[in-house]
Amino acid sequence: MLGLMQNWPLLLHRIIDHAAIQHGTREVVTRAVEDGTLRRRPYAEIRSRALRVAKRLQREGIGIGDRVATLAWNSDRHLELWYGISGIGAITHTVNPRLFPEQIAWIVSHAEDRLMFLDLTFVPMIEAIQEKLPSIARFIILTDAAHMQPCTLRGAVPYEEWLAEADDDFAWADFDENTAAGLCYTSGTTGGPKGVLYSHRSNVLHALACAAPDYMGLSSRDTVMPVVPLFHANSWSLAYSAPMTGAKLVMPGAKLDGPSLHQLLEDEGVTMTAAVPTVWLGLLQHLEGTNGKLSTLKRVVIGGSACPRAMTEAFERKYGVTVAHAWGMTEMSPLGSFCSVKPVYQELEGEKLYDLKVKQGHPPFTVEFRLTDDAGRDLPWDGKTFGRLKVRGPAVAGAYFKRDEEILDDLGFFDTGDVATVDPAGYMQITDRSKDVIKSGGEWISSIDLENLAVGHPDVAEAAVIGVAHPKWDERPLLVIVPKAGRTPSKDEMLAFMTGKIAKWWLPDDVVLVEAIPHTATGKIQKTALREMFKDYRLP
Ligand code: ADP
Repeated sequence: MLGLMQNWPLLLHRIIDHAAIQHGTREVVTRAVEDGTLRRRPYAEIRSRALRVAKRLQREGIGIGDRVATLAWNSDRHLELWYGISGIGAITHTVNPRLFPEQIAWIVSHAEDRLMFLDLTFVPMIEAIQEKLPSIARFIILTDAAHMQPCTLRGAVPYEEWLAEADDDFAWADFDENTAAGLCYTSGTTGGPKGVLYSHRSNVLHALACAAPDYMGLSSRDTVMPVVPLFHANSWSLAYSAPMTGAKLVMPGAKLDGPSLHQLLEDEGVTMTAAVPTVWLGLLQHLEGTNGKLSTLKRVVIGGSACPRAMTEAFERKYGVTVAHAWGMTEMSPLGSFCSVKPVYQELEGEKLYDLKVKQGHPPFTVEFRLTDDAGRDLPWDGKTFGRLKVRGPAVAGAYFKRDEEILDDLGFFDTGDVATVDPAGYMQITDRSKDVIKSGGEWISSIDLENLAVGHPDVAEAAVIGVAHPKWDERPLLVIVPKAGRTPSKDEMLAFMTGKIAKWWLPDDVVLVEAIPHTATGKIQKTALREMFKDYRLP
């Protein structure tokens, strides 16, 4: 027997409708890409402009299932585009501007995007490859006539002029909640880019699950600054979960350096923010150098790569900001776990609390974990046994866009490619990506644990560990360090600092100082490039 409740499809535009009706005066504040000034638009206006986007897109010939590319920083315009595009059943393809131009050409062609909306910043890069983007009928530049610059892109027009050709007298389309809404390609740290095709239903459920107190913990009283870009897997739900709850949004535009972020955090009274660890390195260094304070910030979500213990301690002990370590992947919309404190651990304090906080945490409702060995047999959740982490849920990919291969196991779980432990309380800890783990004499060494430890040294700004070939042990760890300005920590100092904190055989065989460590388009340490850099390296 079926229930007798209303059929109310989980469609994304219902979120911006709700924000406009219930929280219509709450603002979206944007640092303008053109000149760094602040622009303020309440949710009611964002909705009105999203309706105009939808109406104008239809006039452009865009309809259900069409892909529309955005190459843009976090801004009010990018946000209203999202709601406008998906509101007519079209698909927002968020392109990561930090990819190489050839990769951008590849994914835009693979997606067969029909239009592209881009910030002024990216015009020169796209001009150089526009011949390789034949599916794009025209380019719309996210600016107004006053700031428009000479541009050779096909059909280029300033966004504000394009938008002015439509009013908001428009009704959202009605369609099945499983209709595709967004497309995001994995950054290719594990091979060629693969398209993950989100649906309205998956994004609504993901945003609902993430908003809850143990996860993003959002309310109408919050002011949220997503530093994590909208093009980095749904900005970790914030472009949906903030309007859903009525939280004010602060969009940092193109300026993601420590001083600019600090100014916005303070001036706008931000209470919650989220980004990858490299972003927070910049902020913490700025605060240290200027004796700065974080007077309104309460919570920071850190994920995308492992959050070093020293970073968690700095935020919590020096600045009184609670850190929630989070883990996820593009294929998971992206959030899979958050490290908030469950009652079983509420007594923990001091070092023991930080031992917990380096873990990636527990999944929200909508994510199921499975831990298996290579043969697919379930492993115990004892916090020690590590194995392949697999996931299942309504916001986890079931297949890739335009690829036939089967990506789920016999029980419908997706293999994350991460090696992890899960403890009896359900807390997951990543040991490593399966391809980054260092295989020494048949045993595994976690590069993440070593990096975590090394960045705790006061002279170290950033650290990465890779396995290098060893005649006897197969692979041994090499520690690569970017020192803080003016510091030159020696190998002996580093090894002495690490000794006693890890098993002796985990100690790196060598320590190398470099000026910079290569990062991926989403700000993660690019282990493939680092391995390439050190491919001829011989251990002492
Ligand atoms: P990207 O986020 O670079 O677009 P992916 O979706 O492939 O690309 O990245 C997901 C992977 O990032 C995870 O499988 C995991 O290896 C890593 N990752 C994400 N968050 C964390 C974290 N908190 N700790 C350790 N690794 C993480």
